[in-house]
Amino acid sequence: NADIAMYQAKAAGKRSYFLYNHAMNERILEQTTLENGLRQALQNQEFFLEYQPQTDLRTNRISGFEALIRWRRPEYGVMPPLKFIRIAEESGLIHEIGIWVLENVCQFIKTLHRAGLRHFLVSLNVSAVQLRRENFAGAVREIIAREGILPENICIEITETVLMESLEENIEKLKTLADLGITVCLDDFGTGYSSLNYLKQLPIQIVKIDRSFIADISADNTSSQLVASIIELAHKIGLTVVAEGVETEEQLASLGRHQCDIAQGFLLGRPLPEQTAREIAAANLA
Ligand code: C2E
Ligand code: MG
Ligand code: MG
Ligand code: MG
Repeated sequence: NADIAMYQAKAAGKRSYFLYNHAMNERILEQTTLENGLRQALQNQEFFLEYQPQTDLRTNRISGFEALIRWRRPEYGVMPPLKFIRIAEESGLIHEIGIWVLENVCQFIKTLHRAGLRHFLVSLNVSAVQLRRENFAGAVREIIAREGILPENICIEITETVLMESLEENIEKLKTLADLGITVCLDDFGTGYSSLNYLKQLPIQIVKIDRSFIADISADNTSSQLVASIIELAHKIGLTVVAEGVETEEQLASLGRHQCDIAQGFLLGRPLPEQTAREIAAANLA
Protein backbone atom coordinates (compact mmCIF):
# COMPACT_ATOMS: atom_id res chain seq x y z
CA ASN A 1 0.00 0.00 0.00
CA ALA A 2 1.42 3.35 -1.09
CA ASP A 3 0.80 5.28 2.15
CA ILE A 4 2.53 2.67 4.25
CA ALA A 5 5.40 2.49 1.79
CA MET A 6 5.70 6.26 1.91
CA TYR A 7 5.68 6.28 5.69
CA GLN A 8 8.25 3.52 5.94
CA ALA A 9 10.40 5.14 3.33
CA LYS A 10 10.36 8.47 5.16
CA ALA A 11 11.06 6.81 8.46
CA ALA A 12 14.01 4.96 7.03
CA GLY A 13 15.48 8.09 5.53
CA LYS A 14 16.48 9.35 2.16
CA ARG A 15 17.80 6.20 0.56
CA SER A 16 14.66 4.14 0.85
CA TYR A 17 12.57 7.13 -0.11
CA PHE A 18 14.44 7.03 -3.36
CA LEU A 19 13.70 3.31 -3.63
CA TYR A 20 10.02 3.96 -3.07
CA ASN A 21 9.98 6.56 -5.80
CA HIS A 22 11.81 4.23 -8.03
CA ALA A 23 9.24 1.48 -7.51
CA MET A 24 6.46 3.95 -8.16
CA ASN A 25 8.08 5.11 -11.39
CA GLU A 26 8.38 1.49 -12.48
CA ARG A 27 4.66 1.02 -11.95
CA ILE A 28 3.76 4.16 -13.86
CA LEU A 29 6.11 3.15 -16.63
CA GLU A 30 4.51 -0.28 -16.81
CA GLN A 31 1.02 1.23 -16.94
CA THR A 32 2.04 3.62 -19.70
CA THR A 33 3.63 0.81 -21.67
CA LEU A 34 0.49 -1.27 -21.25
CA GLU A 35 -1.72 1.62 -22.32
CA ASN A 36 0.38 2.32 -25.40
CA GLY A 37 0.34 -1.36 -26.20
CA LEU A 38 -3.45 -1.43 -25.93
CA ARG A 39 -3.69 1.55 -28.25
CA GLN A 40 -1.78 -0.39 -30.91
CA ALA A 41 -3.56 -3.65 -30.22
CA LEU A 42 -6.76 -2.80 -32.06
CA GLN A 43 -4.99 -1.60 -35.20
CA ASN A 44 -2.63 -4.56 -35.17
CA GLN A 45 -5.46 -7.05 -34.59
CA GLU A 46 -3.91 -8.45 -31.44
CA PHE A 47 -7.21 -9.14 -29.69
CA PHE A 48 -9.15 -12.33 -30.13
CA LEU A 49 -12.13 -13.94 -28.50
CA GLU A 50 -12.54 -17.35 -26.99
CA TYR A 51 -15.95 -18.92 -26.53
CA GLN A 52 -16.78 -20.95 -23.46
CA PRO A 53 -19.72 -23.33 -23.86
CA GLN A 54 -22.74 -23.17 -21.58
CA THR A 55 -24.66 -26.39 -21.05
CA ASP A 56 -28.39 -26.69 -20.53
CA LEU A 57 -28.67 -29.07 -17.57
CA ARG A 58 -32.08 -30.41 -18.58
CA THR A 59 -31.08 -31.49 -22.06
CA ASN A 60 -27.31 -31.76 -21.61
CA ARG A 61 -26.89 -29.77 -24.78
CA ILE A 62 -25.09 -26.53 -25.44
CA SER A 63 -27.35 -23.52 -25.01
CA GLY A 64 -24.77 -20.91 -25.87
CA PHE A 65 -21.33 -19.44 -25.28
CA GLU A 66 -19.67 -16.69 -23.33
CA ALA A 67 -17.23 -14.60 -25.36
CA LEU A 68 -14.01 -13.85 -23.45
CA ILE A 69 -11.39 -11.45 -24.74
CA ARG A 70 -7.66 -12.22 -24.93
CA TRP A 71 -4.73 -10.11 -26.03
CA ARG A 72 -1.90 -11.66 -27.99
CA ARG A 73 0.73 -9.18 -26.93
CA PRO A 74 3.95 -9.06 -28.94
CA GLU A 75 6.97 -10.35 -27.00
CA TYR A 76 4.75 -11.33 -24.13
CA GLY A 77 2.31 -14.04 -25.11
CA VAL A 78 -1.40 -14.20 -24.45
CA MET A 79 -2.58 -11.82 -21.76
CA PRO A 80 -5.81 -12.54 -19.85
CA PRO A 81 -8.46 -9.80 -19.53
CA LEU A 82 -8.02 -9.18 -15.81
CA LYS A 83 -4.52 -7.87 -16.58
CA PHE A 84 -5.63 -5.20 -19.02
CA ILE A 85 -9.35 -4.41 -18.71
CA ARG A 86 -8.78 -1.97 -15.83
CA ILE A 87 -6.21 0.00 -17.83
CA ALA A 88 -8.51 -0.08 -20.82
CA GLU A 89 -11.23 1.40 -18.62
CA GLU A 90 -9.02 4.06 -17.08
CA SER A 91 -7.73 5.16 -20.48
CA GLY A 92 -11.15 5.09 -22.14
CA LEU A 93 -9.91 2.53 -24.67
CA ILE A 94 -12.54 0.12 -23.37
CA HIS A 95 -15.16 1.83 -25.56
CA GLU A 96 -13.39 0.95 -28.78
CA ILE A 97 -12.46 -2.48 -27.47
CA GLY A 98 -16.08 -3.08 -26.48
CA ILE A 99 -17.26 -2.22 -29.98
CA TRP A 100 -14.68 -4.58 -31.42
CA VAL A 101 -15.95 -7.34 -29.11
CA LEU A 102 -19.58 -6.78 -30.10
CA GLU A 103 -18.75 -6.72 -33.81
CA ASN A 104 -16.82 -9.95 -33.52
CA VAL A 105 -19.55 -11.62 -31.51
CA CYS A 106 -21.97 -10.61 -34.29
CA GLN A 107 -19.67 -12.19 -36.88
CA PHE A 108 -19.56 -15.38 -34.85
CA ILE A 109 -23.34 -15.44 -34.55
CA LYS A 110 -23.63 -15.00 -38.32
CA THR A 111 -21.46 -18.04 -38.92
CA LEU A 112 -23.69 -20.06 -36.59
CA HIS A 113 -26.73 -18.86 -38.54
CA ARG A 114 -25.08 -19.93 -41.77
CA ALA A 115 -24.64 -23.37 -40.23
CA GLY A 116 -28.41 -23.45 -39.71
CA LEU A 117 -28.28 -22.82 -35.96
CA ARG A 118 -30.88 -20.48 -34.47
CA HIS A 119 -31.59 -21.11 -30.82
CA PHE A 120 -28.58 -20.09 -28.80
CA LEU A 121 -27.29 -17.17 -26.79
CA VAL A 122 -23.85 -15.62 -27.10
CA SER A 123 -22.93 -13.60 -24.01
CA LEU A 124 -20.47 -10.75 -23.86
CA ASN A 125 -19.16 -8.85 -20.87
CA VAL A 126 -19.76 -5.14 -20.59
CA SER A 127 -18.03 -3.05 -17.97
CA ALA A 128 -19.38 -0.15 -15.90
CA VAL A 129 -17.44 2.38 -17.91
CA GLN A 130 -19.05 1.16 -21.14
CA LEU A 131 -22.54 1.19 -19.70
CA ARG A 132 -22.05 4.71 -18.35
CA ARG A 133 -21.31 6.11 -21.78
CA GLU A 134 -24.01 8.28 -23.31
CA ASN A 135 -26.31 6.26 -25.55
CA PHE A 136 -24.56 2.93 -25.06
CA ALA A 137 -27.75 1.05 -25.94
CA GLY A 138 -28.10 3.11 -29.11
CA ALA A 139 -24.60 2.11 -30.21
CA VAL A 140 -25.40 -1.55 -29.52
CA ARG A 141 -28.62 -1.36 -31.53
CA GLU A 142 -26.81 0.27 -34.45
CA ILE A 143 -24.08 -2.38 -34.54
CA ILE A 144 -26.38 -5.37 -34.38
CA ALA A 145 -28.66 -3.84 -37.01
CA ARG A 146 -25.70 -3.14 -39.30
CA GLU A 147 -24.43 -6.71 -38.82
CA GLY A 148 -27.91 -8.08 -39.43
CA ILE A 149 -28.09 -9.96 -36.14
CA LEU A 150 -31.19 -10.75 -34.12
CA PRO A 151 -31.05 -9.33 -30.58
CA GLU A 152 -32.52 -12.66 -29.43
CA ASN A 153 -29.13 -14.28 -29.87
CA ILE A 154 -27.25 -11.75 -27.74
CA CYS A 155 -26.80 -11.58 -24.00
CA ILE A 156 -25.04 -8.78 -22.18
CA GLU A 157 -23.38 -9.62 -18.86
CA ILE A 158 -22.96 -6.93 -16.24
CA THR A 159 -21.24 -7.65 -12.94
CA GLU A 160 -23.15 -7.08 -9.79
CA THR A 161 -20.69 -4.67 -8.15
CA VAL A 162 -20.78 -2.48 -11.23
CA LEU A 163 -24.52 -2.32 -11.31
CA MET A 164 -24.84 -1.20 -7.72
CA GLU A 165 -22.63 1.86 -8.22
CA SER A 166 -25.44 3.98 -9.61
CA LEU A 167 -28.36 1.63 -9.46
CA GLU A 168 -31.21 3.85 -10.69
CA GLU A 169 -29.32 5.06 -13.71
CA ASN A 170 -28.06 1.60 -14.59
CA ILE A 171 -31.53 0.09 -14.30
CA GLU A 172 -32.72 2.58 -16.93
CA LYS A 173 -29.82 1.72 -19.22
CA LEU A 174 -30.39 -2.01 -18.89
CA LYS A 175 -34.09 -1.51 -19.59
CA THR A 176 -33.24 0.14 -22.88
CA LEU A 177 -31.10 -2.87 -23.80
CA ALA A 178 -33.79 -5.31 -22.71
CA ASP A 179 -36.37 -3.38 -24.76
CA LEU A 180 -34.24 -4.03 -27.83
CA GLY A 181 -34.78 -7.73 -27.23
CA ILE A 182 -31.32 -8.35 -25.83
CA THR A 183 -31.01 -10.67 -22.84
CA VAL A 184 -29.38 -9.14 -19.78
CA CYS A 185 -27.47 -11.27 -17.28
CA LEU A 186 -26.29 -10.28 -13.83
CA ASP A 187 -22.73 -11.67 -13.64
CA ASP A 188 -20.78 -12.78 -10.56
CA PHE A 189 -23.88 -12.73 -8.39
CA GLY A 190 -23.09 -12.92 -4.70
CA THR A 191 -19.83 -11.01 -4.78
CA GLY A 192 -21.36 -7.58 -4.20
CA TYR A 193 -23.66 -6.11 -1.62
CA SER A 194 -26.84 -7.16 -3.29
CA SER A 195 -29.54 -9.13 -1.61
CA LEU A 196 -31.76 -11.67 -3.27
CA ASN A 197 -34.47 -9.17 -2.56
CA TYR A 198 -33.38 -6.56 -5.04
CA LEU A 199 -33.03 -9.00 -7.93
CA LYS A 200 -36.66 -8.52 -8.85
CA GLN A 201 -36.18 -4.80 -9.36
CA LEU A 202 -33.62 -5.42 -12.07
CA PRO A 203 -34.50 -5.68 -15.76
CA ILE A 204 -32.56 -8.94 -16.10
CA GLN A 205 -33.49 -12.38 -17.35
CA ILE A 206 -30.48 -14.35 -16.16
CA VAL A 207 -28.53 -14.46 -12.93
CA LYS A 208 -25.09 -16.03 -12.93
CA ILE A 209 -23.95 -17.35 -9.57
CA ASP A 210 -20.35 -16.46 -8.84
CA ARG A 211 -17.67 -19.10 -9.10
CA SER A 212 -16.69 -18.72 -5.43
CA PHE A 213 -20.01 -20.25 -4.31
CA ILE A 214 -19.75 -23.08 -6.80
CA ALA A 215 -16.16 -23.84 -5.75
CA ASP A 216 -17.32 -24.29 -2.16
CA ILE A 217 -20.03 -26.80 -2.98
CA SER A 218 -19.43 -30.23 -1.55
CA ALA A 219 -21.91 -32.96 -0.70
CA ASP A 220 -24.34 -31.11 1.52
CA ASN A 221 -22.64 -28.17 3.12
CA THR A 222 -23.83 -24.62 3.73
CA SER A 223 -22.62 -23.41 0.34
CA SER A 224 -24.67 -25.94 -1.53
CA GLN A 225 -27.73 -24.96 0.53
CA LEU A 226 -27.01 -21.31 -0.18
CA VAL A 227 -26.76 -22.03 -3.90
CA ALA A 228 -30.01 -24.01 -3.66
CA SER A 229 -31.81 -21.02 -2.10
CA ILE A 230 -30.46 -18.62 -4.72
CA ILE A 231 -31.73 -20.93 -7.46
CA GLU A 232 -35.11 -21.34 -5.83
CA LEU A 233 -35.66 -17.64 -5.31
CA ALA A 234 -34.38 -16.72 -8.78
CA HIS A 235 -36.87 -19.19 -10.25
CA LYS A 236 -39.71 -17.72 -8.18
CA ILE A 237 -39.16 -14.38 -9.83
CA GLY A 238 -38.82 -15.92 -13.27
CA LEU A 239 -35.07 -15.78 -13.78
CA THR A 240 -32.88 -18.32 -15.51
CA VAL A 241 -29.92 -19.43 -13.39
CA VAL A 242 -26.40 -20.03 -14.69
CA ALA A 243 -23.64 -21.47 -12.48
CA GLU A 244 -20.12 -20.35 -13.42
CA GLY A 245 -16.86 -22.12 -12.68
CA VAL A 246 -18.20 -25.66 -12.51
CA GLU A 247 -15.11 -27.84 -12.19
CA THR A 248 -16.19 -31.14 -10.62
CA GLU A 249 -18.80 -33.84 -11.14
CA GLU A 250 -19.89 -33.34 -7.57
CA GLN A 251 -20.65 -29.66 -8.16
CA LEU A 252 -22.49 -30.51 -11.36
CA ALA A 253 -24.60 -33.17 -9.65
CA SER A 254 -25.49 -30.83 -6.82
CA LEU A 255 -26.50 -28.08 -9.27
CA GLY A 256 -28.60 -30.58 -11.18
CA ARG A 257 -30.38 -31.68 -7.99
CA HIS A 258 -31.19 -28.08 -7.24
CA GLN A 259 -32.62 -27.46 -10.70
CA CYS A 260 -29.95 -25.04 -11.86
CA ASP A 261 -30.73 -24.26 -15.52
CA ILE A 262 -27.33 -23.79 -17.12
CA ALA A 263 -23.75 -24.61 -16.16
CA GLN A 264 -20.46 -23.21 -17.39
CA GLY A 265 -16.99 -24.25 -16.31
CA PHE A 266 -13.84 -26.19 -17.08
CA LEU A 267 -15.62 -29.50 -16.43
CA LEU A 268 -18.02 -28.84 -19.31
CA GLY A 269 -15.64 -26.94 -21.55
CA ARG A 270 -12.78 -24.47 -21.47
CA PRO A 271 -12.93 -21.22 -23.42
CA LEU A 272 -12.35 -22.34 -27.03
CA PRO A 273 -11.03 -20.85 -30.26
CA GLU A 274 -13.86 -19.61 -32.46
CA GLN A 275 -13.49 -22.39 -34.99
CA THR A 276 -13.68 -25.14 -32.37
CA ALA A 277 -16.64 -23.47 -30.69
CA ARG A 278 -18.45 -23.42 -34.03
CA GLU A 279 -17.78 -27.10 -34.59
CA ILE A 280 -19.03 -28.21 -31.21
CA ALA A 281 -22.03 -25.90 -31.59
CA ALA A 282 -22.95 -27.58 -34.85
CA ALA A 283 -22.75 -30.96 -33.15
CA ASN A 284 -24.32 -30.15 -29.79
CA LEU A 285 -26.66 -27.19 -29.93
CA ALA A 286 -30.12 -27.88 -28.59
P1 C2E B 1 -16.35 -13.41 -16.04
O1 C2E B 1 -17.25 -12.70 -16.97
O2 C2E B 1 -16.89 -13.76 -14.71
O3 C2E B 1 -15.86 -14.68 -16.86
C1 C2E B 1 -15.61 -15.94 -16.29
C2 C2E B 1 -14.12 -16.16 -16.06
O4 C2E B 1 -13.95 -17.41 -15.38
C3 C2E B 1 -13.31 -16.29 -17.33
O5 C2E B 1 -12.00 -15.80 -17.06
C4 C2E B 1 -13.25 -17.81 -17.55
O6 C2E B 1 -12.19 -18.24 -18.34
C5 C2E B 1 -13.12 -18.27 -16.13
N1 C2E B 1 -13.62 -19.62 -15.93
C6 C2E B 1 -14.60 -20.28 -16.60
N2 C2E B 1 -14.82 -21.51 -16.12
C7 C2E B 1 -13.95 -21.65 -15.09
C8 C2E B 1 -13.68 -22.73 -14.17
O7 C2E B 1 -14.30 -23.79 -14.20
N3 C2E B 1 -12.71 -22.50 -13.24
C9 C2E B 1 -12.01 -21.33 -13.19
N4 C2E B 1 -11.07 -21.21 -12.25
N5 C2E B 1 -12.24 -20.30 -14.03
C10 C2E B 1 -13.20 -20.46 -14.96
P2 C2E B 1 -11.27 -14.79 -18.05
O8 C2E B 1 -11.51 -15.17 -19.47
O9 C2E B 1 -9.86 -14.65 -17.59
O10 C2E B 1 -12.05 -13.44 -17.81
C11 C2E B 1 -11.98 -12.76 -16.60
C12 C2E B 1 -12.93 -11.59 -16.56
O11 C2E B 1 -12.55 -10.59 -17.50
C13 C2E B 1 -14.36 -11.95 -16.93
O12 C2E B 1 -15.00 -12.54 -15.80
C14 C2E B 1 -14.92 -10.59 -17.30
O13 C2E B 1 -15.31 -9.87 -16.14
C15 C2E B 1 -13.71 -9.90 -17.91
N6 C2E B 1 -13.83 -9.94 -19.39
C16 C2E B 1 -13.58 -10.98 -20.22
N7 C2E B 1 -13.82 -10.63 -21.51
C17 C2E B 1 -14.25 -9.35 -21.48
C18 C2E B 1 -14.68 -8.41 -22.49
O14 C2E B 1 -14.76 -8.71 -23.70
N8 C2E B 1 -15.04 -7.15 -22.06
C19 C2E B 1 -15.01 -6.80 -20.74
N9 C2E B 1 -15.39 -5.55 -20.41
N10 C2E B 1 -14.63 -7.65 -19.77
C20 C2E B 1 -14.25 -8.92 -20.12
MG1 MG C 1 -19.08 -12.92 -17.60
MG1 MG D 1 -18.75 -14.22 -14.13
MG1 MG E 1 -16.22 -13.78 -12.56
